[in-house]
Amino acid sequence: MKIHEYQAKQLFQKFKVPVPPGGVAFSAQEAYQIAESIGGENFVIKAQIHAGGRGKAGGVKLASSLEEVIELADQILGMTLVTHQTGPEGRLVKKVLVEQALDIKQELYLGIVIDRSQAKPVIMMSAAGGMEIEEVAARTPELIVKEAVDPAVGLQPYQTRNLAFGVGLDPALLRQAAGFITNLYQLFEAYDCSLVEINPLVVTTDGQMLALDAKVNFDDNALFRHKELLELEDPDEMDPWSWRPGSTISITSGWTAPSAPWSMAPAWRWPPWT
Ligand code: ADP
Ligand code: MG
Repeated sequence: MKIHEYQAKQLFQKFKVPVPPGGVAFSAQEAYQIAESIGGENFVIKAQIHAGGRGKAGGVKLASSLEEVIELADQILGMTLVTHQTGPEGRLVKKVLVEQALDIKQELYLGIVIDRSQAKPVIMMSAAGGMEIEEVAARTPELIVKEAVDPAVGLQPYQTRNLAFGVGLDPALLRQAAGFITNLYQLFEAYDCSLVEINPLVVTTDGQMLALDAKVNFDDNALFRHKELLELEDPDEMDPWSWRPGSTISITSGWTAPSAPWSMAPAWRWPPWT
């Protein structure tokens, strides 16, 4: 199951993974109010769809006044965004994330996935932030640093150090990086994620590390353990054939039935002996 960037960032905050101040808006007026409450003059308006590559496709825009926030939110809301991940039909944008624009010094990549061959979570970090990790892996694999975590002993301090030094982070940021990676790993574990990806993770000019983008996918087979996560499912983004027992969303109408008896059923597992 996938969720939006703004939802992923709410989970990040729960686990003390720093994100820029911001909030989700369904109208240009709401976008204005959020920007006003953030304060300052520079904001980023980001289309919320379940696909990456929004920046290049015109779904991430910089505003340098509150008036411009209204103008850009108006432009992005209602647009059909076509990115390399949406397919040619694109996705209709119904909500935007309004965030403080940060002064970026360095962009990194940080991701956690399950490596099926090792049956372990693997943390990957790279100094080539903003670039797709598949592209970095194909062209410059030496830029990716990996640490596999033994679930029996958990993430070890030497591993966070290896990652931070491996991507050439300023040693002054070591403690901050260790906390960042450890908290993100705890989130990954706590929610049975299949993927957590921050691209880019930035270091600001005043030396703060923050998640500028956020992607979180959950393992469908473990969702029965996290019923609260089903509320994060967006009917607009669902493939009609991906309905699962436990989902509170009706495929035909998008109507939600939180107390439907089948919402208590455990998710199917197949084959059942795994
Ligand atoms: P996508 O991966 O879908 O293109 P991102 O969230 O990675 O979307 O945003 C694209 C780019 O926009 C980032 O690489 C970054 O350069 C810029 N950006 C995004 N959010 C902010 C922000 N809060 N402040 C400054 N720049 C931002
Ligand atoms: Mg990104």
